[in-house]
Amino acid sequence: MALHEDLEPIYEKLVIRNPGEMEFHQTLREVLESIGPVVSKHPEYVRSNIIERICEPERQIVFRVPWEDDSGAVHINRGFRVEFNSALGPYKGGLRFHPSVLLGTVKFLGFEQIFKNSLTGLPIGGGKGGADFDPKGRSDREVMRFCQSFMTELHRHLGEYTDVPAGDVGVGGREIGYLFGQYKRLTNRYESGVLTGKSLPFGGARVRTEATGYGNVFFVNEMLAARGDSFDGKRTVVSGSGNVAIYTIEKVQDLGGIVVACSDSEGYVLDESGIDVELVKTIKEIERGRICDYADRRPSAKFVPGRSIWEIECDVAMPSATQNEITGRDASTLVRNGCVALGEGANMPTTPEGVRVFREAGIAFGPGKAANAGGVATSALEMQQNASRDSWSREFTEQRLKDIMADIHHRCYETADEYGMPGDYTAGANIAGFCRVADAMLALGVV
Ligand code: GLU
Repeated sequence: MALHEDLEPIYEKLVIRNPGEMEFHQTLREVLESIGPVVSKHPEYVRSNIIERICEPERQIVFRVPWEDDSGAVHINRGFRVEFNSALGPYKGGLRFHPSVLLGTVKFLGFEQIFKNSLTGLPIGGGKGGADFDPKGRSDREVMRFCQSFMTELHRHLGEYTDVPAGDVGVGGREIGYLFGQYKRLTNRYESGVLTGKSLPFGGARVRTEATGYGNVFFVNEMLAARGDSFDGKRTVVSGSGNVAIYTIEKVQDLGGIVVACSDSEGYVLDESGIDVELVKTIKEIERGRICDYADRRPSAKFVPGRSIWEIECDVAMPSATQNEITGRDASTLVRNGCVALGEGANMPTTPEGVRVFREAGIAFGPGKAANAGGVATSALEMQQNASRDSWSREFTEQRLKDIMADIHHRCYETADEYGMPGDYTAGANIAGFCRVADAMLALGVV
């Protein structure tokens, strides 16, 4: 899609300024494509150069993370925190530990996070961090030493009013515990609101663990309801088998859908009798094993190595693994097989070509920054509880999450309508997310 004439030179400048960062270019382009109509309607955004300002992180921190493995060998990893935008609140966004993480990865995720956080309607700015550390095969003590070293550098940049990390791929409750312990020790402050995704005994919020997956299901349910449909009896495929995938499966099943497959980087399991989510939890969360172990323990399941999970026929697709996992070809297969709705549990799991295929086919497509915003929204609820030294019930918190997802759906739907693109949730999410941040930046002056 061509860019608005005022946006094309900005995009070209951004590509030159951020060389080789393909995923960051991809998300920049997607957002800039969507906001063309906004720029036509609001020349003040161009006059004040808000677009270029929003695309440049406020601060980027890159640091060395030295740590010792169990044999005493010393390793070096690279740590990152991109503090992208604080117009709406403290920088907020997860930490990703994965060997593929580069500065450009963190920038792409941080950029998405600005608009996602804005869409929640809550007072949180956008940021993201991580390291090229591979937790796979590492002992608990190695992970602890890595987290302590990572926090030893990062702590000086954090604070409940400054920057509040959480988990992402490779960072769950265990890592957040080690990171919080080290922050507390270094600062001598019991500052619960400095990290979210904490466990319940030390300031965690109920439903935070489940929130990204549950929220995605609530969002897709809203899209289906807008079309007079529901999850009841829907054959669903969920990629991944980490935190997001697990709680997506759980909630789809609660709402009457049938989840027949999930996956990891080695392949997928197909279980026509419906995925046993408790078994996936045991394998992934307790044993920290591989998804092929599932097929060994369930006679109704088979493991298919090295193939795309999107070849499986389904009504609803819930990509919950990683970026760019649905190609144009996968999207065509899904459409041909009758897929009617998709909710992005992962961040940017669909390639631009895939998004185009879904848009042309007119399926209900929930982009990540709307569909998976339940995780960060519940993080903001955790911050609220920490600030008031309170702890809410499961029922109350889940209801808040459900209401927030319904609000996000409504905001995307109405905005897409207002700009003459009915049913285009990607445009709706990008425009609504952008306008709230841009208006706050305008009000705050050139800072
Ligand atoms: N990593 C999650 C996301 O992509 C959650 C971030 C948070 O809770 O701060 O939105």
